Amino acid sequence: MKAFRRFAKKERAARLEEVAIPNLQKNDVLVKVSHCGICGSDLHAWLNHKGYESVLPEVTFGHELSGTIVQSTVEDGKYHVGQKVVMIALQTQHDPSDPFCQNGLPQLSPRRRVQGLHLDGGMAEYIAVEEEFLLPIPEGLSMELAALTEPLSVAEHCIENRTSIQKNDRVVVSGPGIIGMLCAISARSRGAEVVVVGTEMDEDIRLSAARKLGFETIVVGPQLTPLCKQVEEKFPGGADALVEASGAPFALSEAWRSVRPNGTVTAIALYSRTIDLDLTQFLRKQIDLRTSYASSRPDYLRAFELFKNGQVNAEDLISNYQLKDAEQGFKDSENLRVMKAVLNCQK
Ligand SMILES: [Zn+2]
Repeated sequence: MKAFRRFAKKERAARLEEVAIPNLQKNDVLVKVSHCGICGSDLHAWLNHKGYESVLPEVTFGHELSGTIVQSTVEDGKYHVGQKVVMIALQTQHDPSDPFCQNGLPQLSPRRRVQGLHLDGGMAEYIAVEEEFLLPIPEGLSMELAALTEPLSVAEHCIENRTSIQKNDRVVVSGPGIIGMLCAISARSRGAEVVVVGTEMDEDIRLSAARKLGFETIVVGPQLTPLCKQVEEKFPGGADALVEASGAPFALSEAWRSVRPNGTVTAIALYSRTIDLDLTQFLRKQIDLRTSYASSRPDYLRAFELFKNGQVNAEDLISNYQLKDAEQGFKDSENLRVMKAVLNCQK
């Protein structure tokens, strides 16, 4: 089968390779991959960025996949051949004695792993997945859109569990990448009023996609009106919550200016360097500064609900590539030419 694989611990060291269809271990099923998204973390791993040292030197990338079960080793399992599924990306085998499993936060357990970085992933014609980490795709959901379940679950965890957005909340989403956009969709689905912030570089593709999705947008840059002044015009007194999804250190360190006293700032991006932050400014407004990391099964289930309710529109978000053009998908993602690159793994 064909697979888009990293072949060395170096920048851009990945290519399409011909490899064997994976052998199944106990409790595994074989999934014929339909679609697989290119995630920000795939991009970091491909570029061999700091913080991604744990990624295997040789591995098939991809954790945002949808597919169909073609073989199973599990007798009387929950899943059957022909069933359409998505995979939980950040995987912690259930252990009732693990406090993180007990508290519904398996994604924070030190035993966690990411399939597609720490074992072979879904940018391939087939993938072997432990049954425990599957979720059935609801009736009527396209395989293409289902490939967005993982990133939408990450946004759902941020908005539901880590930002606690309520109806009529006034929310600023900083960073119009796919995670920012999905956070905006998640917040809006709860009745929040949302503006999406980007730079001039985002204007052509990402901010215009945000407007197509019905969001008001704000452009920031060195020569432009500061974000907090633009937010004040839209949300007098400041926003109730700001979700920082851009990964720009400045956007996080200055976030306190755009949020009302007792509001919330949630960082969901990964920052490539340490941040110089004046915490006293956050403190004097008693701003609740939080982080949000990954997601778990209930977040995936809520993501399915958002798809079912028609909250997420594939055309405005997804750019399709054939598996053989995976490298182009990575390059276009790197250069911000697409909102979300998704590989069709059977073409
Ligand atoms: Zn992802």
